[in-house]
Amino acid sequence: MNSITSDSEAILRLVVFIAVFSAMAVLEMLLPRRQLTVSKSRRWLSNLGLSALNTILLRVFIPIAGVAAAYWAEDRNWGLLKLVEFADWIGILIFLLVFDLLIYFQHRLFHKVPFLWRLHRTHHTDLDYDVTTGSRFHPLSILISAFIKLALILILGPLAIAVVLAEVLLNATAMFNHSNIKIPVRLDKLLRNFVVTPDMHRIHHSVDAVEHNRNFGFNFPWWDRLFGTYLAEPKLGQEAMGIGINGFEDDSSISLQHLLTQPFKDPS
Ligand SMILES: [Zn+2]
Ligand SMILES: [Zn+2]
Repeated sequence: MNSITSDSEAILRLVVFIAVFSAMAVLEMLLPRRQLTVSKSRRWLSNLGLSALNTILLRVFIPIAGVAAAYWAEDRNWGLLKLVEFADWIGILIFLLVFDLLIYFQHRLFHKVPFLWRLHRTHHTDLDYDVTTGSRFHPLSILISAFIKLALILILGPLAIAVVLAEVLLNATAMFNHSNIKIPVRLDKLLRNFVVTPDMHRIHHSVDAVEHNRNFGFNFPWWDRLFGTYLAEPKLGQEAMGIGINGFEDDSSISLQHLLTQPFKDPS
């Protein structure tokens, strides 16, 4: 458990990314939920390009990886989780829950604060919704989020394995719940008790401003119900509802170069 390094974490994350991404990409072809409206190859090139750029920037600009921060805290017996004696698995579970709750409130903050919304808006201006939407985030929003997560790690002082699990789980569920997969209604209803499903999170990408301020959860579905932001279905239904943000319907929402400058532009 103590042998996890930042490098082995990076390899684990890459392997899980490739496995989940491939599974979702195949299922999207076999069981598509909605018809795509713009060129898939152009969108994928931009969304995955943005994701690759974010991975590089994190390595360059974040002085210390989450795992390293957890070891730093462990060496000094630092953090709130060190105040009580837990079995390791309980400490891991607590961290996973608190981490996910932080992501939920961070997401609400990114919708509430105008400057943060401009950054997060890049995630919402995707004109279609599929597995690559899950990795479409503006680099500045990724860096801000990385510092917020780092602060949580330094406050709580979780085991390094808990940090790895939290990040891997978040990446995997983000790919799952952004996928364009048709899941039978009854199965979707059952899954929504444990995890955010594609039909649940897709509502968050609706062009309707009320609907895109619902279903903020990325991983566990409970926070939206607990804090009153849950919406079960979009007004127009999953297939007819519009995806994106009004005023960002043109080419500028597709090319990578435009995605980087989009936060500094107003809707047309
Ligand atoms: Zn959002
Ligand atoms: Zn999303």
